[in-house]
Amino acid sequence: MVKSESTPHVMKVAQTNDTSFIEMWESLKSTFPKFFGEATYKSWLAPLAFKEFNSGRFVISAPTSFMRDWVIDNCKTQILKFLQELHPTVLLLDIVVDKNLAIESQQQAPAIIAEQPSLKATHAGEIEVIGSRLEPRYVFDNFVVAPSNELAHAAALRVAESPKVHFNPLFIYGGVGLGKTHLMHAIAWHINKLHPKRKVVYLSAEKFMYQFIRALRFKDMMSFKEKFRSVDVLMIDDFQFISGKESTQEEFFHTFNALVDQNHQVIISADKSPSDLPGLEERMRSRLGWGLVADIHPTTYELRLGILQSKTEQLGAEVPINVLEFLAHKIASNVRELEGALNRIVAHSTLVGGAITVESTQQVLRDILRANDRRVTIDEIQRRVAEHYNIKTSDMHSAKRVRTIARPRQIAMYLSKKLTEASLPEIGRKFGGRDHATVMHAVKKVSELMLEDRSINEDVELLLKMLQC
Ligand code: ADP
Ligand code: MG
Repeated sequence: MVKSESTPHVMKVAQTNDTSFIEMWESLKSTFPKFFGEATYKSWLAPLAFKEFNSGRFVISAPTSFMRDWVIDNCKTQILKFLQELHPTVLLLDIVVDKNLAIESQQQAPAIIAEQPSLKATHAGEIEVIGSRLEPRYVFDNFVVAPSNELAHAAALRVAESPKVHFNPLFIYGGVGLGKTHLMHAIAWHINKLHPKRKVVYLSAEKFMYQFIRALRFKDMMSFKEKFRSVDVLMIDDFQFISGKESTQEEFFHTFNALVDQNHQVIISADKSPSDLPGLEERMRSRLGWGLVADIHPTTYELRLGILQSKTEQLGAEVPINVLEFLAHKIASNVRELEGALNRIVAHSTLVGGAITVESTQQVLRDILRANDRRVTIDEIQRRVAEHYNIKTSDMHSAKRVRTIARPRQIAMYLSKKLTEASLPEIGRKFGGRDHATVMHAVKKVSELMLEDRSINEDVELLLKMLQC
């Protein structure tokens, strides 16, 4: 075991001198494309260089801290394993940043850059190669419009149809799986169809950053700038990725300004509004809000059902309406998950045969359904019941005994017992520190009233339904 530099063994290794380690590293590296994949190799691993071997510590360097961090997160363990197989004295793997590396490895640069066809080589109207591939399914025709997304949809359509720039940038934001990427792809497809000469570039913020870093590394900023500043429509998806990444943000800001100044359209999506995105420079934040900021709200039951119907049609499948209703009701988290669920039940019935029913759906989707099982909280029950009876939520905790307040409070206790796992004393505590006997009395009383009094029965049934969906 190597302990310190002074052990003879280490001395010997150190003297084996660096050339043999460089060779070892380079030959190991040549196996990486096969193991990690060509793309990963080219983007992240090829630039890594051997730096030194010292006290069992094998040190390699990366040209930027971003690359280093990525390699540490994604490949380091495996690389260390390989090194240890080759050389038993390797104990640790360190990856450091060496800014000079960019200059030294410049000879390699042309080979990598050449893979990216230059702008001149592409035909006008193609979705640019610097962008990402577009999903054919993500077109306007397949997008179901509802109040929750109609503003974003209308803005997207306007941008896609009009050759004039009406608002710049168009900033679309909303939670995961609510259709931001779908809308952006739809814009790109649409422009491509209507105005094939317009140059449209769609890419994720992550990819933008990666291209920027690559340009820095290969001292190729000129063509990077030219590439991005010569497009007619630039779309950056998942912009939140850039927040907090100062130099990428800075570069994006310049690109952005250049495009907006030339009256070229910029479209951005993010998970939050410009004012809520953390880690954004102030001037960037304010510029992002200059155009139109359109949000996509969480889905409603009707939209989910509409999407399911549209997707079922696209799949050419037949799924009974009560199954679609069941799914729309149960999977409220996001549309991607909803689609996944639909695909699964359709695939299951195709493979295993048999009709699709609510029961078979429950079986096939056990895991998803369990995860989506919403647990109602006592707070929520109190809020809903108070709203229903038009009293203050604070009255749920108060000592007031008038019937108009005491009765709703008893109903809320009854519902808490029925819909949550809380014990009677726990429920009592949540209702202004009442004891368990009071809760028990309320539960009994409401059960009785439900049998005698039709309007109470209806109220409770309605509340139950609302709280369970
Ligand atoms: P985001 O980018 O907001 O996370 P996506 O655009 O990737 O969400 O949408 C997730 C999935 O849900 C996609 O398959 C998309 O087609 C679908 N989807 C979301 N909203 C709608 C909608 N309104 N109509 C049809 N499909 C939708
Ligand atoms: Mg997306």
